[in-house]
Amino acid sequence: MASALQTVSLPCFLRTCRLSPPPRPSISFPSPSSSFSRTSQSNGCFVSARVKAASSSSSATAADVSELKDGIAEFYDESSGIWEDIWGEHMHHGFYDPGTDASGSDHRGAQIRMIEESLRFAGISEDGANKPKRIVDVGCGIGGSSRYLAKKYGAQCQGITLSPVQADRGNALAEAQGLADKVSFRVADALNQPFPDGQFDLVWSMESGEHMPDKSKFVNELARVAAPGGIIIIVTWSHRDLGPSEESLQPWEKDLLKRICDAYYLPDWCSTSDYVKLFQSLSFQEIKTEDWSEHVAPFWPAVIRSALTWKGFTSLLGSGLKTIKGALVMPLMIQGYQKGVIKFSIITCRKPPQTQ
Ligand code: SAH
Repeated sequence: MASALQTVSLPCFLRTCRLSPPPRPSISFPSPSSSFSRTSQSNGCFVSARVKAASSSSSATAADVSELKDGIAEFYDESSGIWEDIWGEHMHHGFYDPGTDASGSDHRGAQIRMIEESLRFAGISEDGANKPKRIVDVGCGIGGSSRYLAKKYGAQCQGITLSPVQADRGNALAEAQGLADKVSFRVADALNQPFPDGQFDLVWSMESGEHMPDKSKFVNELARVAAPGGIIIIVTWSHRDLGPSEESLQPWEKDLLKRICDAYYLPDWCSTSDYVKLFQSLSFQEIKTEDWSEHVAPFWPAVIRSALTWKGFTSLLGSGLKTIKGALVMPLMIQGYQKGVIKFSIITCRKPPQTQ
């Protein structure tokens, strides 16, 4: 991985830098069209689940969302091949011991560790009878997680992405690795998944949540496709939780996030506790979170160093103005992390065995 870092390589949440223009939707009510949301709405739960986005009070229009989706698809279509050359098949951060010097680290090993730590945190069973058998990989990239999980558990995995290039590449890699009968990928929207209710005993979202313009709808879809008793794992960027007396982030924090969102064309983020509230509103069980910001921090110096090598610099120059703009804003991400505004979090929970 160290040699891979000789070229410019941006973590997944930075990769929306080609989108245009930046939509700035906030969290809204879940879609009333899903069966799970109908159940919960009948209990009035979603009224208390309304959560506010941090840095904007604007709402997503259908045109905003459509533009965002097109931009994400286009961006991953264009750049997934380069990322695979650099990062291999996993398009997410590594998990490191805090204080690790990333310069000598095994970054690909750290990416696998991120998967393993996520499974461990969620308490996924390793024993034959209880290990996951049906998995959905929501925002699958080129399917690194799906193939890893299919091999580890012998499970059937279905991945969805907005990028046709990623779906094709994911299927080609599955074929090449002898996993075509276990793993498949297709283009589909995480906010409107092409699966019946209650299909999956593990619902996996590794660094895709930050792309979702409607976090409530996102959570609702994850909940809908989870089987009764199934586990949901979300690993994502969020902003810090608000204090009990706070209505919103501080103006300087909003400004920092706004500059990052504008540069990277991301929809607004929410906090980890916003995710918790959404799962609570669905009466999910065993809701757990952990702040892993320190565990991904060693990655950032390596990313910046890679951009400063000759090869990295020339790759950056050849990549286009929006990518350059994104790279220039990278220090703001580090600033956001160091000041505690930006968090890298895991959220896990279990769907009740019987839905009401
Ligand atoms: N989870 C993968 C890839 C992370 S990159 C990995 O760890 O390797 C983010 C992924 O989210 C991309 O594949 C992108 O297409 C997907 N994505 C973003 N918004 C999406 C949406 N609305 N529906 C489905 N996939 C989405």
